[in-house]
Order: sequence, then C-alpha cells, then structure tokens
Amino acid sequence: MQNSTEPRFIVDTNVGHLVRKLRMLGYDTLFVNPIDDADLLHRADQEGRIVISGDRRFFERRWIRSGRVRGLWIDTYRDPTTQLRRIVRTFGLKSGASFIRCLECNTLLLLKSKDAARGRVPPYVYETVAEYAYCPRCDQFFWEGDHVKRMRALIEKLSEDADPAG
Ligand SMILES: [Zn+2]
Repeated sequence: MQNSTEPRFIVDTNVGHLVRKLRMLGYDTLFVNPIDDADLLHRADQEGRIVISGDRRFFERRWIRSGRVRGLWIDTYRDPTTQLRRIVRTFGLKSGASFIRCLECNTLLLLKSKDAARGRVPPYVYETVAEYAYCPRCDQFFWEGDHVKRMRALIEKLSEDADPAG
C-alpha cells in the first residue's frame, strides 16, 4: 500500500544505479535522463521529492541551501551498497525488499494469478511459478527469479553493520 507520508525521491544521473534499488525497496523514485540541474530542482520542488545526487556543486544551489528542496549528497567513490545504506539510514527507510513497484518505470505493480500469465512468460516459468506481478505501463509480467534473489541478497547486506566511515 502506498503511504503518502513516505519520502519520494528524484535521482540525478550521476547516481542512476540507485534508482532500481530504491524502487525495489518500494519507494517512489523518479529518474529522468538527461536532466539539467534546474529541471531536477523544479521537479523535486513541484513533486515534493528529495534529490539524490553525487554532484557536490549541486548542493550549493539556493533552493537546496535554503531548505526549499531537500537533498542528499552521495559519495560516488563509495561502494554501491554503502551508498544505498546511507540513504536508508538518513531517511529511516524500510530496508526490506517489497517489490511493489516496477523497477523499470516506477509504476505500482498489480498482483496477477497464473492464468493471467499464460502465454506471456516462458513455459518453464509458467510451470513453476504461481504468482506474478504485472506492470500495466510496461505491459510486462515479473516473477521471482535469479534477478530477484540477487536483489534480496543486496538488501540483506543493508542491515549489516556499516563500516566505520559509512
Ligand atoms: Zn513498468
């Protein structure tokens, strides 16, 4: 279920790898590529989104300094898990995978039965998987496969202790 008080994000192109991870955690995450700094700020302001960026200079902008737009600088030299952990801790995000949101387009997924997936997924998948998630915008079915397992492994790492410099 979507909670309107949950933080929403817009991710700068220099840390684009974080987009799918934030969506995987269930958070409404906008990504526009290419986008210039002014557009990024305007979208954040209009839609009440927190800017995630790896560009230090971006945080010298007036709207950020005045607090009109919230933002978090990410050190792109840190490893990706540390980067994500920083966001999770800063905003108190739930760090469990939820898979309620399409990783490609940010749309909320619909739960679909096996019948709906007939002919839309590979036969070996259809034979073994009972429940599917469907993105109405991408018109795509998703299911728990190796990709999801890898993502779960990454998310489990989030709850491990951060390194001292994290
Ligand atoms: Zn989609």
